[in-house]
Amino acid sequence: MNAAKTPPPSRCRCLVLNPGLEVLDYRVPPGMVVGPGSVVVAPLGPRQIIGVVWEDGRLPGADFPLAKLRPLLSVLPVAPLPAPLRRLIEWTADYYLAPLSQVARMALSSSAALQGGGMTTEYRLTGAEAGRMTPQRTRAIERLAGQQATIRELAELAGVSDAVLRGMVTAGLLEAVRVDSDRAYPMPNPDHAVPDLNDGQAEAAEHIIAAVRARRFAPFLLDGVTGSGKTEVYAEAIAAALAMDRQVLILLPEIALTQNFLTRFEARFGAAPVAWHSALKASERRRAWRQVSLGGAKVVVGARSALFLPFADLGLIVVDEAHEIAFKQDDGVRYNARDVAVMRARFEAVPVVLASATPALESLAMAEAGRYERLVLPDRFGGAQMPDIRIVDLRTDQPERGRWIAPPLVKALKERAERGEQSLLFLNRRGYAPLTLCRGCGYRFCCPNCSAWLVEHRLSQRLACHHCGHEVPPPPTCPECGEPDCLVACGPGVERIADEMAQILPDARVIVATSDTLNSPDKAAEFVELVTGGGVDVIVGTQLVTKGFHFPDLTLVGVIDADMGLEGGDLRAAERTYQQIAQVSGRAGRGDKPGEVLLQTRHPEAAVIAALASGDRDAFYAAETEARRDAGAPPFGRWAAIIVSSEDEAEARDAARAIGGTRPSLADVAILGPAPAPLSLLRGRYRYRLLVNARRSSDLQSVLRDWLGLLKFPQGVRVAVDIDPYSFV
Ligand SMILES: [Zn+2]
Ligand SMILES: [Zn+2]
Repeated sequence: MNAAKTPPPSRCRCLVLNPGLEVLDYRVPPGMVVGPGSVVVAPLGPRQIIGVVWEDGRLPGADFPLAKLRPLLSVLPVAPLPAPLRRLIEWTADYYLAPLSQVARMALSSSAALQGGGMTTEYRLTGAEAGRMTPQRTRAIERLAGQQATIRELAELAGVSDAVLRGMVTAGLLEAVRVDSDRAYPMPNPDHAVPDLNDGQAEAAEHIIAAVRARRFAPFLLDGVTGSGKTEVYAEAIAAALAMDRQVLILLPEIALTQNFLTRFEARFGAAPVAWHSALKASERRRAWRQVSLGGAKVVVGARSALFLPFADLGLIVVDEAHEIAFKQDDGVRYNARDVAVMRARFEAVPVVLASATPALESLAMAEAGRYERLVLPDRFGGAQMPDIRIVDLRTDQPERGRWIAPPLVKALKERAERGEQSLLFLNRRGYAPLTLCRGCGYRFCCPNCSAWLVEHRLSQRLACHHCGHEVPPPPTCPECGEPDCLVACGPGVERIADEMAQILPDARVIVATSDTLNSPDKAAEFVELVTGGGVDVIVGTQLVTKGFHFPDLTLVGVIDADMGLEGGDLRAAERTYQQIAQVSGRAGRGDKPGEVLLQTRHPEAAVIAALASGDRDAFYAAETEARRDAGAPPFGRWAAIIVSSEDEAEARDAARAIGGTRPSLADVAILGPAPAPLSLLRGRYRYRLLVNARRSSDLQSVLRDWLGLLKFPQGVRVAVDIDPYSFV
């Protein structure tokens, strides 16, 4: 910007990162140059806050005289937030009824990056074995292999104090490395290892590539059965964007899948993409954020939060496993990353690919309506066949008493063991047992902070609440009647199934795969390596193993309880059950050996189970579409949840009643409640809920804004609005 030709405005409007204030005007002191998107430091009372300069006309504000405005303090040394990102922040805040400042915070997601580039000192092991070895030093050496980070970060990784590591620097065990936080990442090479695509793949890729080259907004639904090679298709579109020197964002639903994806990506492009997720160290976040804004990070693969990164020149967005519920954020700004990704693509004028073997009904409806272009891959890649799906009727084929695996599944597991093939048992429940009782008095172990049972985790010897993280060691006596050794486990979790497996096949090597055991990208990578290398016979896993993994020797999938997802009365229960079981079934028979799936159920007649068994996806979607139409549910109608909570039960109830008492009376909006939420106590807060169901055409957000905007609540009350909710608890 040339300050001599265009004199800087003498005042500017800022979005400040302060909930409640949000928009403030400031004076621009002489010599300071700012424009829309500039990240600035501004005074607020005696404090300093961070703000983003915004276009005047787009944010409402009070027009105080210039003389009354306080001057900005400084401009931070980062590129201005680009206009498409500013539009995305506005849209997200407006659509999800979230404070603008809270959304802007998601874009400014590395405070270190805002301070500019520069050199920092990181440390790594020297490999020397000099000096006195203590247990702490030995542990640090074990845990820090291959790591390089600041002393603070290494101390956290190793679980030792900073002082121990400083001592190791003095002893020559660790060495300092000067690094530049603005160093670019290795460039992926679009021509590194170009695969041979089959005709279907090549044709689908051509459509996306044309949109990448045309630099136009184009939403694609890449709809292909599990194992059909969707990744290879969108990889060619990524190559096209790279050839134009543009950036690419790939969203994945789980961190645990990242490592597997990085490996495959590196094989195709010769360099790994830049990862973005909550497990990054602060120094890694700083570098990634800065390089994204400078254009030096070409391909970013990340969890939903990557959606708000300040890309300098985005050319393509991919949402893999786009149907996944994990894309919905359920606290803070309650957004759905799949939907926000489409909006970002629109603001950036680039194509977006939603890839899935089991698309969300909403996405299919958009394709039907012609708003998304649907690209179909009907066949498995390399001639592999879809697995056979068989039903095990638990009413006639009962497991032995105290067991959960029915005789037909036991038989199939034994056959695989004899042939040296791998099996996967799926049960979406972590831990050993979901409920623990006292055998003496029937006392149920519940969480003191939530209306939920404590789940026994036998491997780590604790009773844990999966909602708030509260945990206790299993008590030696019943807290109610005092009887010793009284605990009875009720129902199965994956650990219990693994125990049962050990009884069925004592020699089998069994691994439990859940978010408890695969809780970091490194552990997930170890798991993949172990299974691929043939070091495992049976995997017992939760939804974490239903997607993304490709194990050629895995030929049997057993679903322990196909009915489980149908309980609870959730709007999407049938769809989610279908997706989850279709996805986990897709793990079987991906190599040259055919796969088989056994579904254990008590309701073989249920539409979703029958559709799975017959492999008739279209029939399932057609039936589900009709059910949604009847219920006025998405995509035919819209839902919003209002969740009122307080640590004081009466206060929460009164606030919920106050909201209910001022409900608007509108022809196209139905309001249900207030009622205690199914999870009526969560993390120490009592919860009440109202549900709003509106016609597709109604302006739901305006209705909610007008309604809730008039009410005032006591300090301890929180009122959260969830637009397009997924969870109804
Ligand atoms: Zn008892
Ligand atoms: Zn709890």
